[in-house]
Amino acid sequence: MKESDSVIFEKDAKGYVPVFNRYKIVLDHGEGAYLWDNNGKKYLDFLAGIAVNVLGHAYPPLVKAITDQAAKLIHTSNLYYTQPQADAADKLVKLSGLGKAFFGNSGAEANEGAIKIARKCAHNIDPEKSQIISAWHSFHGRTLATLTATGQPKYQEGVGPIPEGFDYVHFNDFEELERMVTDKTAAVLLEPIQGEGGVHTPKGDYLKKVRALCDKHKALLIFDEIQTGIGRTGSFFAYEKYGVKPDIVTLAKGLAGGVPIGAFVVTDEVAKAFHPGDHGTTFGGNPLACAAANVVLDTIPKKEFLENVTKEGDYFKEKLQGLQKKYPGYIKDVRGEGLILGLELSDTEHGRDIVNEAMEKGVIINCTAGNVLRFIPPLIITEKEVDFLIECLDEILVKYAK
Ligand SMILES: *Cc1c(COP(=O)(O)O)cnc(C)c1O
Repeated sequence: MKESDSVIFEKDAKGYVPVFNRYKIVLDHGEGAYLWDNNGKKYLDFLAGIAVNVLGHAYPPLVKAITDQAAKLIHTSNLYYTQPQADAADKLVKLSGLGKAFFGNSGAEANEGAIKIARKCAHNIDPEKSQIISAWHSFHGRTLATLTATGQPKYQEGVGPIPEGFDYVHFNDFEELERMVTDKTAAVLLEPIQGEGGVHTPKGDYLKKVRALCDKHKALLIFDEIQTGIGRTGSFFAYEKYGVKPDIVTLAKGLAGGVPIGAFVVTDEVAKAFHPGDHGTTFGGNPLACAAANVVLDTIPKKEFLENVTKEGDYFKEKLQGLQKKYPGYIKDVRGEGLILGLELSDTEHGRDIVNEAMEKGVIINCTAGNVLRFIPPLIITEKEVDFLIECLDEILVKYAK
């Protein structure tokens, strides 16, 4: 039975741990780049469940793969082999040019595993080699190790003691990193483009220099591509764009088109650090999640699909730059690659109001880092849909940009 919005809000207030500052709509179903709420109102989705629904909502081949697999076998534990998991690992290894994959259930779990295996590798060189360096304004997850790697102190307040051996540098400041990395550094962990931090892109050959510095000190380079991977930037992994290969890449969000999954993919050399019993998961990489991942991994890496992401992304960015020209004082910056785009406002107060007004007009967007409107739509978004968003934004911004 469908209940009214107010009954659902009340149930949630009574029964759910209040960690989310939710928008006041109840979502019911979706199709393609559209969502419908409980009252039948339609929304164009420029958030995609935070970069998750890469193939849009209710994509028929994905629905079919999930329902067919559910009817056969949902879960087995990792004590046995399954075809979907073997296929998904094989595909990720081929796409990444790395050696071996491991599946968990979320982004945080992927990063947790990456940090663990990096430390294990380092320990084999020198038991005191354990430092993990990440960037200020990064986001790596909510478990204790990943919230520690997350360079935003607000996530670490009141939950200490937090794990030791984590240090932070400013993204794009290579000299600072050069001073920080030593032979005791186990790994440098970076998002190639910072997502939650406000869509910050790497400048010049920053990532290439980071790669060389890591090699010099036998530190591993971990790229957190949980948000930037799976075609988001127009290449399957963002690192391909920058011509830099990590030792470990982590994925989650879009990997199974909405079914919970996470993965770390490592070189064969790194994989040698883990032996039976060193790591594990009950649910991770179960046949249901991997059947979904296989649809994503068969669809998005195709040349035409990725070229279309680049084309739509370029079109979208140009339109955002058009808005910036119109409201030069109000819009500070437009940045991003492919379909991860950010529009930085000089206004640090009205981000949430703008998101709410867009929702009233039937467009779902997001504001991150306080003043950056972030656009991470399904990768199937079209120019017409971009035009609709831009019109709505124009109508909203004209009121604030005075
Ligand atoms: C979302 C995100 C995570 C955390 O993923 P969860 O599935 O929420 O644990 C980690 N890193 C990056 C870059 C992310 O965008």
